[in-house]
Amino acid sequence: AVFDRIEAVEGKIGAFITRTKEHALERARAVDGQIRNGGKISPLSGIPVAVKDNICTCGIPTTAGSRMLSGFVPPYSATVVKKLDAAGAVLVGKTNMDEFAMGSSTENSAFFITRNPWDTERVPGGSSGGSAAAVAAGEAVLALGSDTGGSIRQPASFCGVVGMKPTYGAVSRFGLIAFASSLDQIGPLARDVTDCALMLNAICGHDPMDSTSARFDAPDYTAFLVNDVRGLKIGVPEEYMAEGIEPGVRQAVEEAMKLFESLGALVEYTTLPHTEYALPTYYLIAPAEASSNLARYDGVRYGRRAAEAEDVIDMFMKTRSQGFGSEVKRRIMLGTYALSAGYYDAYYLKALKVRTLIKEDFDRAFEKYDLLLSPVSPTTAFRIGEKTGDPIQMYLSDICTISVNLAGIPGISVPCGFSGGMPVGLQLMGRPFDEGLLLRAAYTFE
Ligand code: GLN
Repeated sequence: AVFDRIEAVEGKIGAFITRTKEHALERARAVDGQIRNGGKISPLSGIPVAVKDNICTCGIPTTAGSRMLSGFVPPYSATVVKKLDAAGAVLVGKTNMDEFAMGSSTENSAFFITRNPWDTERVPGGSSGGSAAAVAAGEAVLALGSDTGGSIRQPASFCGVVGMKPTYGAVSRFGLIAFASSLDQIGPLARDVTDCALMLNAICGHDPMDSTSARFDAPDYTAFLVNDVRGLKIGVPEEYMAEGIEPGVRQAVEEAMKLFESLGALVEYTTLPHTEYALPTYYLIAPAEASSNLARYDGVRYGRRAAEAEDVIDMFMKTRSQGFGSEVKRRIMLGTYALSAGYYDAYYLKALKVRTLIKEDFDRAFEKYDLLLSPVSPTTAFRIGEKTGDPIQMYLSDICTISVNLAGIPGISVPCGFSGGMPVGLQLMGRPFDEGLLLRAAYTFE
């Protein structure tokens, strides 16, 4: 049924870089065979999943949306892919994304754009736009995305699906093509909160292959799917509801606040005073880490190598000039500058200090509140091409999501209404490893 659906709508949506029908049918038959032979049926047995194309899949091309990696076939699978496999899930394809996950609209893919299933003149969000669009259009039942500054939550919000960025360290990053290693997390995109919990159950947990993976006792997240928010203390950071928010988005979020109140939660405005520094902090740290992580694409180790070069240095330069798109080059230049001798203290080191202040804002807020609530994005899905000419406008649209990554805390996007016919996502943010509580509160909207 999913492949019929892909056949019918993929021409309009463009969610997949690679489709894996043959592989999927073979896998589905194998899972079916195991079950017929008395094997255990897991909640994900036979479930069609799509995986963002920056997550390595053994034997299946993985491009990170970049010409630099076109033709790259990983010799191993990411831990999350192995875990999904072990749970019986079936990979139906690799999804489109902004190149190396740099972007908020999937327009920075080196290959093609993805369209929002609700209105194909609009972007699906990004960078996990292919994963969000695939789930929203019924081209997959579940999908994996990665979130460095909002790349799961914002496309989930734009496409009217549920998306979660887990606590830093809760899900293994082994096999995720690195963008900014101290911010990247893999997480689920799903049609509803229940599916999100089921996928989180399958992918989370400690992994010795990832040195930043946390040791913690992961609960059964489906145990939190109860309709009960009585007594929860929910703070709404006023900085996230400031001017610049589309009126329809504000209204949908205010209605969500009233709904929580009517169900017995305490909801009040609070403050995260360093929010105004979040964007500059993120746009120093993320490019700095990216410039270092992307140094490995030199034409020697993987993927593309420029054909005609005079010597090794010329080969490096031609490979990188031809292989990277303009947003990636912009980030490499920003990051290299921020890390260079003489500027390191003024930019990178300063950004790390401000990052601590931002984290402390959250620590203080969570002394008083169980959860924080905000819009995911100041607007609904914008028009294709609307922001491509102005990178600053594109960066500003990340204002509500990036602090969560800087602080390492979990965040979920859950559909809470519509503005001008387009879905609006509500963001709930929690204490580290409190994904269960996020799911419990988000379940209110199921
Ligand atoms: N939009 C942000 C950026 O361009 C976040 C991307 C992400 O989370 N991968 O960096």
